[in-house]
Parts: sequence; C-alpha cells; structure tokens
Amino acid sequence: MAEHAANFTFTYQNKPSILEVIAQKSLHDTLHPALQRIALFLSSNVPHKFGWLNKHFEEVFLLLDGLLQYHYLAFYDASFSENFYGLRRISPAGDSLTKKHKELSLIFLVIIPYFKRKLDEKIAIIRLENAEGSLRKDFEGKFKKAVLFSYSGLELIWGLCCIHNYIRYMANRTEFQTPLYQLIDCKLTYNIDIEDLSAGFWTSLFKGGFSVSQLSFGLVRNAISTTLEVGAFFLQFLHTWNSQKSNYNVTDLPNVPPPDLDSKSKKYRGKCPLCLKQWINPTVLQISGYIFCWKCILKHLHEHQKCPITNLPAKPLDIVRLYLS
Ligand SMILES: [Zn+2]
Repeated sequence: MAEHAANFTFTYQNKPSILEVIAQKSLHDTLHPALQRIALFLSSNVPHKFGWLNKHFEEVFLLLDGLLQYHYLAFYDASFSENFYGLRRISPAGDSLTKKHKELSLIFLVIIPYFKRKLDEKIAIIRLENAEGSLRKDFEGKFKKAVLFSYSGLELIWGLCCIHNYIRYMANRTEFQTPLYQLIDCKLTYNIDIEDLSAGFWTSLFKGGFSVSQLSFGLVRNAISTTLEVGAFFLQFLHTWNSQKSNYNVTDLPNVPPPDLDSKSKKYRGKCPLCLKQWINPTVLQISGYIFCWKCILKHLHEHQKCPITNLPAKPLDIVRLYLS
C-alpha cells in the first residue's frame, strides 16, 4: 500500500499542469510570426539584399525550425519550447525517446506545420473569394466551396478533440497531454535532469575535469541554448507588450499629417494601376495604399509577392476589399 502511495506521489509530481502544456504551445506558436516580422522588416528595408526572404520565408523557417527542434530533440528529448518550460518527452512506460519517437516528433513539430501553413494560406484565399462572391458556379467553384466546408469542419472537430483531451488529462483519464502526443506515443514529464546536468558541467569545469574539445563543445552548446532561451523570453515579453499596446485609446495618439502624394499615385488616380481601367471590385494593398481591381492584384500577388508600383513585399492575404459608395 505504501509502495502504491509512493508511486502515486511520484507520478503526480511528474505530471505537468495543463497551464504549462498550454504555455509551451503558446511559445512554440510565437516563433513563426516573430521570425516572419523580422523577415518582413529586412525585405522591406534592405530589398536589394533580402528581397528574396519574403518570397521564400516558409522554406527558410522550415530549415531553421528543423535545425532548432532537431538539436533539442537530440540533446533534451524535447522541443525547444518544451525544454524552455522544463519539460521533456518520454515513452508511456517512462523510458527515454527512441529514434522512431524522435523522427515522428520532428515530423509533427516541423514538417506537418509547414504544409498546414501552406494549406491555411490557400484556404484563406478561398474564404476571401467566397465572401467576395467571386467563386463561380462551375466545377472549380463548387470544389473550392466543398474544400472550404470540409476544412472548417475538420478544424472544428480537431479543436473539440483537443479540449476533450485536456479535460480527460486534468481528470487523470489519460496520460497524453494532447491527441498529437498520443499519435507519436509519448507524453510530457518534468525534466528533472536539467539542474543535475548543468551542475555537472560547471563542477567539472571548475575541477578541470574537461578536455579542451569537451569544454569548447559544452560552452558552445550552453551559449546557444542560453541565447535561444533568453530570446524566447523576449519573444514572450514583446508579445505581451504588443497586446497591451493595442489597447491604447487611439485619441491619445499624436496627430500625424498624411504624407504627400507621389507622382505615381497621381498617374493612377481613379483607375487600377495594373489594367489601367476603372476598378472592378476595388481592393487596397495595405503595405502601399494603392487600389486595384480584386482579380488584378490577387493574380499579381500570387505570381510576384510584391506591390506592382512600390515593389514592397506583399502576400495575397495583405489585401482589403473596399466598398466604395
Ligand atoms: Zn485592374
């Protein structure tokens, strides 16, 4: 009985709270938009050097995220964000991850989200076309509507499955934190080795127990991990700060005069700069402020990912339909 009690206490103490699980997921989800902001800043301000970055950002992020998650899975049995919150992955029996676990984890952490982001972008365009009423009644239009309906349904079912799983996890009905961990057949636990490992490193360092190669490798690894983790802290901080900033009262902001119109904007006054005709379904490109026909700008952004007048980087989702009276 006492043994069972001790075992229960151990299991209970090693079970991460639902808040920690959600917090690490939130940090994981912050990485992509944060790096996308940096890429947009570079491609807008130094277009001759980084103009390509906006167009190929998803592939660059796939590579960087792949290397980051591979490093953390190899050394800590955890994703970057799980390790940041002192968590790691173990098998349901409590063993360390096998090679297959790590490969599946990498696929679910990096590869599948890459394809999901690509699909999300296409679905968002279909959603815009549907709201605009520009989906035709032919086979293609019906197919796009069916895809939109199925995708929204699947997203809803997945969301409900995750909530159901969270409730079961809190009620000790399942040991898997989300359905994804169940698919990979691993669960999260506290990384109780973290302090021992770092103590071992620093103790060995002061006792001179490391060879030069071990020492440089350990220092580089520690430096990379510390830099990434401090970076993650600032990401979270900036995210919170930005959310608070959006609550400011707009009437408190200084009154900035609008910039002078450039000669190009006068040239295209009252017409679409692409087809040079009166706008059909006027649509503004947020980054430059120019107004085009809905179809003209959507087609152009699909092919070139930049404003046709200013060359500023832009994507199909950067447009806003205008309803002029
Ligand atoms: Zn046009």
